[in-house]
Amino acid sequence: MVEKSSAGWYVDDRCVNCDVARQLAPELIKEVDGRSTIRRQPRNNTEIASLRAAAFACPTRSIRHSSGRLDPAGDPFPMRLDDQVYLCGHNSVQTAGANAYLLPAPKRGHHDD
Ligand code: SF4
Repeated sequence: MVEKSSAGWYVDDRCVNCDVARQLAPELIKEVDGRSTIRRQPRNNTEIASLRAAAFACPTRSIRHSSGRLDPAGDPFPMRLDDQVYLCGHNSVQTAGANAYLLPAPKRGHHDD
């Protein structure tokens, strides 16, 4: 069974309560009875981007929109956190929804022989 509002974002019942969604969209997603649920619908593009990030990070793809499938073009990952660290998103159920980070290897210096 799916908890689905008439329009907008919702969380389906596959949610395993890993907390990732609430880390990425704390204003919009809350925990109720051991799983995430939408606190309120987004009001602007920044909030839409937060929910989209939560959706693409969710290991069970439980954050959904009534309009249908997520548009891959809206995938924000890997998401740059600072000069050296990216958040990978696309969390795995095999790791209980743990976040993964990407730290690109430093560029090697060029040596002239
Ligand atoms: S990321 Fe997905 S599985 Fe994890 S708490 Fe949010 S909705 Fe539930």
